[in-house]
Amino acid sequence: MKILMLGSPGAGKGTQAQWIAKKYGIAHISTGDILRVNIKNETELGKKAKIYMDQGLLVPDDLICDLVINRIFHLDVVNGYVLDGFPRTLSQAEVLTAALDQSDVKVDHVIYIEVPDAKIVNRMSGRRVCLVCGATYHVKYNPPKVEDKCDICGGVLILRDDDKPETVRKRLDIYHAQMHTLIDYYNAASILVKVDGTKDIDKVFQDIVKILGV
Ligand code: ADP
Ligand code: ADP
Ligand code: ZN
Repeated sequence: MKILMLGSPGAGKGTQAQWIAKKYGIAHISTGDILRVNIKNETELGKKAKIYMDQGLLVPDDLICDLVINRIFHLDVVNGYVLDGFPRTLSQAEVLTAALDQSDVKVDHVIYIEVPDAKIVNRMSGRRVCLVCGATYHVKYNPPKVEDKCDICGGVLILRDDDKPETVRKRLDIYHAQMHTLIDYYNAASILVKVDGTKDIDKVFQDIVKILGV
């Protein structure tokens, strides 16, 4: 099963992708997580990407596209994957489609989680992420069992630098500038399904499972 997650920053893509990956036994590929690990390890990619990420800007396609394409053709994703954070622009979607077409592979579902901007800033200030395994929490809506400690791997949870309200607003603006064309693109292929992301996390997940099947 191959799934793409679309939606604004903070819509719940990562949270739902984590649950989907677990239920269906597929890989969770998050471009944000991959970039953050590169920043932590001070790789060349990480150094370049950080400049954009800190400002709430998208990193350029040449830094991200090859990385994702290599990842989704890697052997450990034979069962499939849920791609979270890619594509974010029409040109990224076209690169992805071209790469999949070449191997005669198709995306099964594109899930678009819809949440109004007004709810997002509040969500982001409470978001905590594990830099070790990428798990996502919220201090109020999805708290870890032990404060600031990852339930899955015991890693320390952090507030991301780019989750400050002013950077979040900038990311939302960039999202809105890109997303309509992306949504139209997948709508035209009749594989896009919209989900109401304002419901509780488990309710959103139930709606997604109805789409994906048991
Ligand atoms: P969020 O969970 O808020 O949607 P991510 O963790 O997916 O954010 O991404 C964090 C940052 O990483 C983005 O603001 C952007 O700078 C960069 N990034 C992640 N995915 C992409 C992508 N597909 N194209 C360009 N930049 C990306
Ligand atoms: P994205 O990957 O789309 O940026 P996340 O999955 O990281 O979004 O979610 C952003 C924040 O909102 C996290 O702190 C997460 O725990 C919380 N969250 C996710 N889904 C919901 C929901 N349905 N209701 C309330 N909070 C949520
Ligand atoms: Zn962890």
